[in-house]
Amino acid sequence: MTREEARALDAADPLRSFRERFRLPEGVIYLDGNSLGALPEATVARQRDAVERQWGEQLIASWNCENWIDAPARIGARIAPLIGAAPHEVVVSDSTSVNLFKAIAGAAALRTERIILLTELGNFPSDLYVADGAAAMIAGLTLRAVPPGEVEAAIGDDTAILLLTHVHYKTGRRRDLASLTARAHAAGALVVWDLSHSAGAVPLALSADRADLAVGCGYKFLNGGPGAPAFIYAAERHHAQLRSPLQGWFGHSAPFEFRDDYAPAAGVQRFACGTPPILSLLALEAGVESFDGACMVELFAKSTRLFDLFAGEVERRCPELALVSPHNSDERGSQISFAHPNAYEICQALIAARVIGDFRAPDILRFGLTPLYLGFEDIWIAVDRLAAILAQQSWREPRFAVRAKVT
Ligand SMILES: *Cc1c(COP(=O)(O)O)cnc(C)c1O
Repeated sequence: MTREEARALDAADPLRSFRERFRLPEGVIYLDGNSLGALPEATVARQRDAVERQWGEQLIASWNCENWIDAPARIGARIAPLIGAAPHEVVVSDSTSVNLFKAIAGAAALRTERIILLTELGNFPSDLYVADGAAAMIAGLTLRAVPPGEVEAAIGDDTAILLLTHVHYKTGRRRDLASLTARAHAAGALVVWDLSHSAGAVPLALSADRADLAVGCGYKFLNGGPGAPAFIYAAERHHAQLRSPLQGWFGHSAPFEFRDDYAPAAGVQRFACGTPPILSLLALEAGVESFDGACMVELFAKSTRLFDLFAGEVERRCPELALVSPHNSDERGSQISFAHPNAYEICQALIAARVIGDFRAPDILRFGLTPLYLGFEDIWIAVDRLAAILAQQSWREPRFAVRAKVT
């Protein structure tokens, strides 16, 4: 494809106007929206209003008059259609890692007669660490992490919980949520899905697929801002029995009655814990609203075309890069990853050339495909700069080998 052809695709793209909702630095091609979503233009004014007027002028009255108190449920309800859930099945709260702990402990209490918390090796580290800690703390629960290809066969009579990440953070490989959930249910187990690289990235149908519990990230594809609060989903059919292990007052049925005894709030709200970070919540709300008017099916269809252009141009112009993401769009999320022994240095050289992707140890070069604000010409330019860096071996400059704390 030529640059002109890519530009023509942008001109014909019905989603093109969405990029105007985002503030992106001139000349930068941002391929890291899977790690930190771009800044929505609306967030800037919303944050200013939240700080200056709501907090500065109205002070504590804003809990009522700006409905701060309902923000976790309100924003959860806005995330719900993006993940195929009912509005009252999602609440925004804490971080993904904390929500994972709550989901595991909540599910374990519904399966006390079973002993295994099953997950896969190579899962996102925080998921493995939280699972390990939860298993150490919950009597009778043992963590079993098996190689990815052995998960399905390992589901058995002793499985209490299957804990899986839907889209793998490194490769972008997507699990079949419906069939694995059905497989676990047939064995009598519950499933906790981590949707960090799925929410706002791929179409999801949690209700139709009979998901039990899920967690997901606010600062990646949902554009909620650095460290944005996460969400937790629980299917309505579990609401009456589920309990959070972190019984904070915001998960109480009547927090402002200040009672000594804990009584869980109705539904998923019981997974809220302490006072929510309102400024961050309002930023997340604007991030989620940046999806208004677009549906996940059309966004992912564009993502697939961006992927095909990226993969095709890399195959033609950068033969030293090995594609590690699945070719088949049904089997991947909204990213493209390549392996190369010097992925770190190449990534740094690309950033110096104003193409921002990221590196995942030990050898993965990863690019997020965010159809809300990326176009076909962006992909073309990114691969053009990548091809030049590889052809000239400019990544060998010593400055590109200096390791930063965050990659
Ligand atoms: C990004 C990510 C997380 C992040 O968890 P935090 O608690 O927000 O740091 C968790 N799990 C997966 C699979 C992720 O990709």
